Amino acid sequence: MSADYHVHIENGPCTIEWLKEFINSGLSKGLKEIGISEHGHRFIEGYNVYKSDGFRTEWVKGYMDQSIEEYVELIKKAKALGLPVKLGIEADYFPDKEKELEMFLKPYPWDYVIGSVHWLGDWGIDLEESIEEWKSRNTDEVYIEYFDIIEKMAKTGLFDVIGHIDLVKIFGFRPRPKTFDKIRKNIEEISKTGIVIEVSTAGFRKPVGEIYPSKEIMEMIREYNIPVIINSDAHYPEHVAFEFDKAYEYVKSFGINTLYYFNKRNKTPYQI
Ligand SMILES: [Zn+2]
Ligand SMILES: [Zn+2]
Repeated sequence: MSADYHVHIENGPCTIEWLKEFINSGLSKGLKEIGISEHGHRFIEGYNVYKSDGFRTEWVKGYMDQSIEEYVELIKKAKALGLPVKLGIEADYFPDKEKELEMFLKPYPWDYVIGSVHWLGDWGIDLEESIEEWKSRNTDEVYIEYFDIIEKMAKTGLFDVIGHIDLVKIFGFRPRPKTFDKIRKNIEEISKTGIVIEVSTAGFRKPVGEIYPSKEIMEMIREYNIPVIINSDAHYPEHVAFEFDKAYEYVKSFGINTLYYFNKRNKTPYQI
Protein backbone atom coordinates (compact mmCIF):
# COMPACT_ATOMS: atom_id res chain seq x y z
CA MET A 1 0.00 0.00 0.00
CA SER A 2 1.46 3.30 -1.03
CA ALA A 3 0.91 6.42 -3.08
CA ASP A 4 2.34 8.24 -6.08
CA TYR A 5 1.86 11.98 -5.75
CA HIS A 6 3.70 13.27 -8.81
CA VAL A 7 1.52 12.57 -11.83
CA HIS A 8 0.77 14.78 -14.85
CA ILE A 9 -2.33 14.21 -16.97
CA GLU A 10 -1.42 17.05 -19.35
CA ASN A 11 -0.87 14.78 -22.37
CA GLY A 12 -4.58 14.03 -22.64
CA PRO A 13 -7.97 15.66 -22.13
CA CYS A 14 -9.15 17.01 -18.79
CA THR A 15 -11.73 14.21 -18.38
CA ILE A 16 -12.63 11.51 -15.86
CA GLU A 17 -11.96 8.84 -18.51
CA TRP A 18 -8.35 9.97 -19.05
CA LEU A 19 -7.80 10.43 -15.32
CA LYS A 20 -9.08 6.91 -14.68
CA GLU A 21 -6.34 5.49 -16.90
CA PHE A 22 -3.74 6.85 -14.48
CA ILE A 23 -5.68 5.71 -11.42
CA ASN A 24 -6.22 2.21 -12.80
CA SER A 25 -2.56 1.92 -13.73
CA GLY A 26 -1.60 2.86 -10.16
CA LEU A 27 -4.13 0.54 -8.55
CA SER A 28 -2.96 -2.34 -10.72
CA LYS A 29 0.55 -1.78 -9.32
CA GLY A 30 -0.71 -1.88 -5.74
CA LEU A 31 -1.04 1.83 -4.99
CA LYS A 32 -3.68 2.95 -2.53
CA GLU A 33 -3.97 6.44 -3.94
CA ILE A 34 -2.80 8.59 -6.82
CA GLY A 35 -2.13 12.30 -6.53
CA ILE A 36 -2.30 14.50 -9.60
CA SER A 37 0.20 17.37 -9.72
CA GLU A 38 -0.26 19.37 -12.89
CA HIS A 39 2.44 21.90 -13.78
CA GLY A 40 1.61 25.40 -12.65
CA HIS A 41 2.83 26.66 -16.03
CA ARG A 42 -0.21 25.12 -17.75
CA PHE A 43 -2.65 27.46 -16.07
CA ILE A 44 -3.65 30.84 -17.42
CA GLU A 45 -4.16 32.07 -13.86
CA GLY A 46 -0.47 31.43 -13.15
CA TYR A 47 0.82 33.91 -15.73
CA ASN A 48 2.02 36.47 -13.17
CA VAL A 49 4.05 33.78 -11.41
CA TYR A 50 5.74 32.44 -14.54
CA LYS A 51 6.26 35.55 -16.63
CA SER A 52 9.70 37.10 -16.79
CA ASP A 53 11.46 39.68 -18.95
CA GLY A 54 12.90 37.02 -21.24
CA PHE A 55 12.72 33.51 -22.69
CA ARG A 56 10.68 32.05 -19.83
CA THR A 57 7.64 34.08 -20.82
CA GLU A 58 7.96 32.95 -24.42
CA TRP A 59 8.28 29.30 -23.37
CA VAL A 60 5.45 29.39 -20.88
CA LYS A 61 3.06 30.97 -23.40
CA GLY A 62 3.36 27.79 -25.45
CA TYR A 63 1.91 25.72 -22.55
CA MET A 64 -0.44 28.04 -20.71
CA ASP A 65 -3.74 27.00 -22.23
CA GLN A 66 -5.93 25.71 -19.40
CA SER A 67 -7.99 27.20 -16.62
CA ILE A 68 -7.02 25.97 -13.19
CA GLU A 69 -10.72 25.92 -12.23
CA GLU A 70 -11.35 23.22 -14.81
CA TYR A 71 -8.53 21.09 -13.38
CA VAL A 72 -9.58 21.51 -9.76
CA GLU A 73 -13.18 20.71 -10.68
CA LEU A 74 -12.08 17.49 -12.41
CA ILE A 75 -10.28 16.24 -9.30
CA LYS A 76 -13.17 17.27 -7.05
CA LYS A 77 -15.55 15.37 -9.29
CA ALA A 78 -13.29 12.29 -9.23
CA LYS A 79 -13.24 12.42 -5.42
CA ALA A 80 -17.03 12.69 -5.36
CA LEU A 81 -17.14 9.54 -7.50
CA GLY A 82 -15.09 7.76 -4.84
CA LEU A 83 -11.89 7.53 -6.89
CA PRO A 84 -8.70 7.36 -4.77
CA VAL A 85 -7.23 10.62 -6.01
CA LYS A 86 -5.61 13.68 -4.41
CA LEU A 87 -5.44 17.28 -5.58
CA GLY A 88 -1.90 18.49 -6.00
CA ILE A 89 0.12 20.85 -8.14
CA GLU A 90 3.78 21.10 -9.13
CA ALA A 91 4.54 24.79 -8.88
CA ASP A 92 7.79 26.46 -9.84
CA TYR A 93 9.56 28.54 -7.24
CA PHE A 94 10.99 31.86 -8.36
CA PRO A 95 12.55 33.85 -5.50
CA ASP A 96 11.07 37.11 -6.77
CA LYS A 97 7.53 35.72 -7.18
CA GLU A 98 6.53 34.54 -3.72
CA LYS A 99 3.57 36.94 -3.42
CA GLU A 100 2.28 36.05 -6.88
CA LEU A 101 2.57 32.34 -6.13
CA GLU A 102 0.74 32.68 -2.84
CA MET A 103 -2.13 34.48 -4.60
CA PHE A 104 -2.19 31.89 -7.37
CA LEU A 105 -2.40 28.89 -5.00
CA LYS A 106 -4.63 30.36 -2.31
CA PRO A 107 -8.15 29.76 -3.69
CA TYR A 108 -7.88 25.97 -4.07
CA PRO A 109 -8.19 23.03 -1.64
CA TRP A 110 -4.80 21.37 -2.27
CA ASP A 111 -3.95 18.09 -0.60
CA TYR A 112 -0.30 19.02 -1.18
CA VAL A 113 1.87 21.42 -3.17
CA ILE A 114 5.11 20.22 -4.79
CA GLY A 115 7.73 22.92 -5.25
CA SER A 116 10.23 22.52 -8.06
CA VAL A 117 13.04 24.58 -9.51
CA HIS A 118 13.23 24.13 -13.28
CA TRP A 119 14.48 27.64 -14.03
CA LEU A 120 17.45 29.72 -13.01
CA GLY A 121 16.05 33.03 -14.19
CA ASP A 122 15.35 32.57 -17.89
CA TRP A 123 17.43 29.42 -18.23
CA GLY A 124 15.34 26.25 -18.19
CA ILE A 125 17.93 23.83 -16.79
CA ASP A 126 16.05 20.66 -17.82
CA LEU A 127 15.12 21.74 -21.36
CA GLU A 128 16.82 19.90 -24.23
CA GLU A 129 17.64 23.22 -25.86
CA SER A 130 19.53 24.30 -22.74
CA ILE A 131 22.40 21.84 -23.13
CA GLU A 132 24.49 24.42 -25.01
CA GLU A 133 24.04 26.80 -22.10
CA TRP A 134 25.15 24.05 -19.71
CA LYS A 135 28.40 23.70 -21.65
CA SER A 136 29.15 27.39 -21.28
CA ARG A 137 28.49 27.47 -17.53
CA ASN A 138 30.58 26.59 -14.48
CA THR A 139 28.84 23.45 -13.20
CA ASP A 140 29.77 24.03 -9.54
CA GLU A 141 28.37 27.55 -9.64
CA VAL A 142 25.16 26.26 -11.21
CA TYR A 143 24.73 23.67 -8.44
CA ILE A 144 25.39 26.26 -5.75
CA GLU A 145 22.86 28.69 -7.22
CA TYR A 146 20.30 25.92 -7.73
CA PHE A 147 20.52 24.51 -4.19
CA ASP A 148 20.44 27.98 -2.64
CA ILE A 149 17.11 28.51 -4.42
CA ILE A 150 15.87 25.09 -3.26
CA GLU A 151 16.69 26.07 0.33
CA LYS A 152 14.91 29.39 -0.08
CA MET A 153 11.92 27.59 -1.53
CA ALA A 154 11.73 25.22 1.46
CA LYS A 155 11.79 28.18 3.83
CA THR A 156 8.81 29.98 2.27
CA GLY A 157 6.31 27.57 3.80
CA LEU A 158 4.36 27.62 0.54
CA PHE A 159 5.25 24.01 -0.33
CA ASP A 160 4.77 20.57 1.22
CA VAL A 161 7.21 18.62 -0.94
CA ILE A 162 10.44 19.39 -2.82
CA GLY A 163 10.22 17.88 -6.33
CA HIS A 164 13.24 16.12 -7.86
CA ILE A 165 15.67 17.89 -5.55
CA ASP A 166 18.73 17.27 -7.74
CA LEU A 167 17.09 17.81 -11.12
CA VAL A 168 20.21 19.87 -11.83
CA LYS A 169 22.07 16.60 -12.63
CA ILE A 170 19.60 15.73 -15.44
CA PHE A 171 22.13 15.94 -18.30
CA GLY A 172 24.97 14.39 -16.31
CA PHE A 173 26.88 17.57 -15.50
CA ARG A 174 28.33 16.82 -12.04
CA PRO A 175 29.87 19.11 -9.45
CA ARG A 176 33.22 18.56 -7.78
CA PRO A 177 32.93 16.55 -4.54
CA LYS A 178 33.69 19.59 -2.39
CA THR A 179 30.58 21.35 -3.73
CA PHE A 180 28.58 18.81 -1.73
CA ASP A 181 29.96 20.45 1.46
CA LYS A 182 28.03 23.54 0.45
CA ILE A 183 24.96 21.51 -0.50
CA ARG A 184 25.10 19.85 2.94
CA LYS A 185 24.47 23.25 4.51
CA ASN A 186 21.42 23.69 2.24
CA ILE A 187 20.09 20.27 3.26
CA GLU A 188 20.67 21.04 6.94
CA GLU A 189 18.65 24.26 6.60
CA ILE A 190 15.94 22.40 4.69
CA SER A 191 15.71 19.86 7.54
CA LYS A 192 14.55 22.63 9.88
CA THR A 193 11.50 23.47 7.77
CA GLY A 194 9.58 20.18 8.00
CA ILE A 195 9.24 19.96 4.21
CA VAL A 196 9.21 16.50 2.61
CA ILE A 197 11.76 15.54 -0.06
CA GLU A 198 10.61 13.51 -3.03
CA VAL A 199 12.53 10.44 -4.17
CA SER A 200 11.71 10.39 -7.88
CA THR A 201 12.05 7.49 -10.27
CA ALA A 202 11.76 9.94 -13.21
CA GLY A 203 15.55 10.17 -13.21
CA PHE A 204 15.71 6.63 -14.60
CA ARG A 205 13.95 7.91 -17.73
CA LYS A 206 16.23 10.95 -18.17
CA PRO A 207 19.70 11.26 -19.74
CA VAL A 208 21.34 10.95 -16.30
CA GLY A 209 19.73 7.49 -15.92
CA GLU A 210 19.56 7.48 -12.13
CA ILE A 211 17.04 8.16 -9.40
CA TYR A 212 16.65 11.58 -7.77
CA PRO A 213 18.23 12.31 -5.33
CA SER A 214 21.74 10.90 -5.63
CA LYS A 215 23.39 8.83 -2.89
CA GLU A 216 25.32 11.83 -1.54
CA ILE A 217 22.09 13.68 -0.89
CA MET A 218 20.23 10.61 0.40
CA GLU A 219 22.91 10.23 3.06
CA MET A 220 22.33 13.81 4.17
CA ILE A 221 18.57 13.20 4.20
CA ARG A 222 19.10 10.28 6.54
CA GLU A 223 21.54 12.21 8.70
CA TYR A 224 19.16 15.14 9.16
CA ASN A 225 16.09 12.91 9.41
CA ILE A 226 14.15 14.56 6.60
CA PRO A 227 10.83 12.93 5.64
CA VAL A 228 10.62 11.47 2.13
CA ILE A 229 7.98 10.19 -0.27
CA ILE A 230 8.43 8.17 -3.46
CA ASN A 231 7.01 9.58 -6.73
CA SER A 232 7.22 8.76 -10.43
CA ASP A 233 6.64 12.14 -12.16
CA ALA A 234 4.40 10.19 -14.57
CA HIS A 235 3.37 11.89 -17.82
CA TYR A 236 1.52 8.81 -19.18
CA PRO A 237 -0.60 6.17 -17.41
CA GLU A 238 2.08 3.47 -17.71
CA HIS A 239 4.57 5.70 -15.84
CA VAL A 240 2.53 5.68 -12.62
CA ALA A 241 4.54 3.91 -9.88
CA PHE A 242 7.36 3.44 -12.43
CA GLU A 243 10.23 1.42 -10.89
CA PHE A 244 8.80 1.81 -7.38
CA ASP A 245 10.29 -1.52 -6.30
CA LYS A 246 13.75 -0.13 -7.02
CA ALA A 247 12.88 3.07 -5.17
CA TYR A 248 11.70 1.19 -2.06
CA GLU A 249 14.96 -0.77 -2.03
CA TYR A 250 16.88 2.45 -2.51
CA VAL A 251 15.33 4.32 0.43
CA LYS A 252 15.47 1.23 2.65
CA SER A 253 19.19 0.94 1.93
CA PHE A 254 19.51 4.28 3.77
CA GLY A 255 17.49 2.95 6.70
CA ILE A 256 14.35 4.82 5.71
CA ASN A 257 11.14 2.79 6.21
CA THR A 258 8.54 5.54 6.54
CA LEU A 259 6.66 7.34 3.76
CA TYR A 260 3.66 9.66 3.99
CA TYR A 261 0.11 10.11 2.77
CA PHE A 262 -1.12 13.62 2.19
CA ASN A 263 -4.58 14.99 2.83
CA LYS A 264 -5.52 18.69 2.93
CA ARG A 265 -1.86 19.60 3.40
CA ASN A 266 -1.39 17.27 6.39
CA LYS A 267 0.84 14.25 6.23
CA THR A 268 0.33 10.86 7.85
CA PRO A 269 3.17 8.34 8.05
CA TYR A 270 3.02 4.74 6.87
CA GLN A 271 5.59 1.98 6.90
CA ILE A 272 7.07 0.23 3.91
ZN1 LIG B 1 9.35 18.88 -12.53
ZN1 LIG C 1 6.59 16.84 -12.76
